[in-house]
Amino acid sequence: MRRHLAMPVLELPHAVELRLAAARAAMELDLACWVDMNTHTPNKAGVDELGTLLSERLEAMGFRVAELVGGVTGRTLIARMGYEERFSEDASEPAPEVPKPLLLIGHMDSVFAPTEPAASLQVDATTRRARGPAAADMKGGLVIMIHALEALHREGLLEGRSLRVILNSDEETGSASSGEIIGAEAAECAAALVFEAGRPRPDGATSIVTQRKGLLRLRVRARGRSAHAGVDPSAGASAVRELAVKVKPIEELARDHEGVSVLVGRFSGGTAANVVPAEAHMDIDVRFEDDDQRQELEDAIQGLLVRSEVRDAEGRPRVATTITERVFRPAMQPDEASAALLAEVLRAGADLGLHIEPEARGGSSDAALAMAAGCPAICGLGAVGDGFHTPEEWADLDSLFARARLLALLVLRLQAGAP
Ligand SMILES: [Zn+2]
Repeated sequence: MRRHLAMPVLELPHAVELRLAAARAAMELDLACWVDMNTHTPNKAGVDELGTLLSERLEAMGFRVAELVGGVTGRTLIARMGYEERFSEDASEPAPEVPKPLLLIGHMDSVFAPTEPAASLQVDATTRRARGPAAADMKGGLVIMIHALEALHREGLLEGRSLRVILNSDEETGSASSGEIIGAEAAECAAALVFEAGRPRPDGATSIVTQRKGLLRLRVRARGRSAHAGVDPSAGASAVRELAVKVKPIEELARDHEGVSVLVGRFSGGTAANVVPAEAHMDIDVRFEDDDQRQELEDAIQGLLVRSEVRDAEGRPRVATTITERVFRPAMQPDEASAALLAEVLRAGADLGLHIEPEARGGSSDAALAMAAGCPAICGLGAVGDGFHTPEEWADLDSLFARARLLALLVLRLQAGAP
């Protein structure tokens, strides 16, 4: 059925409320099924299986779904509705005024390897907490996105709206292959809502996220020369030694009081106790609050990496150190436009009787990529939960319903001007 969408819809229509209430069991079932599907970032087959299922659900609502084929990770889905139609085939015809799209961002991948135990969802009937890998981060968020859109679609309320949905497959490793497309899509959109998990607060409210630290991750490789430890050790050049001496000064670049952390979180090298190690690797994880800090830290780390430890008699470096991978996500910092979007989200929550509070969080998310592209964004609109990335991760089942209502109302209000 066709509604008069030109009028701003101020309330969540009762029919949508009813549809979402009727879908509560289906939301829980979808959560259980999607948690059962392993979508560890390197598990391309698993991520793509969930992608196919979500792509079908989006297409059934009238989205046109394009796929970005990533390298080693799963596909990224880019679903579009509405906006493109303003570009008329006949250039002499004036383009109809269509508002810029609202962008919904989620990720399908998780940090849980297929070998993790307790892969199925465990529901505590009393607390309504559902524990399982990626239940909150972010299978629950995907459930909210899909069900809110489906309830609107079934009431004919998606017609005439401009929407985009991006579901990527490499968020947990830094969105290396999908980051660019997220930025490009966000640049065309009016606002972005990101479905990372919210958290419960002691005062009974739940959080959404308005501020996040930025992330810089560097994979470093050192290559020296192997030799027998007993026979001719001086012929070797130890890559482990070359990197090991750099760990301390690199980590000392951290400045807690400024919100800057630096960690060598992974270190490996060598092949046997009696062989001078020819190769070593380390992963450096840097968190920061603004880009000036990031630049300064990156310069300092580069400076430490090029300072060679293992040298020959003439002082020439014997180990080559290179950065083989660089993952970067800017910090998410509130601005005027995102403050206005936040006000809309808080108002919609209050109108639905939901007590929501903004939160600043250390972890990074793709919301920062949208903000960097000039698109105001709010994160943490997904399921409420905690224990993210641990075996204890849980999602509040009732939050699926609460936040699907919130999203449905936000879609109607933020896209109220659709013809
Ligand atoms: Zn996440």
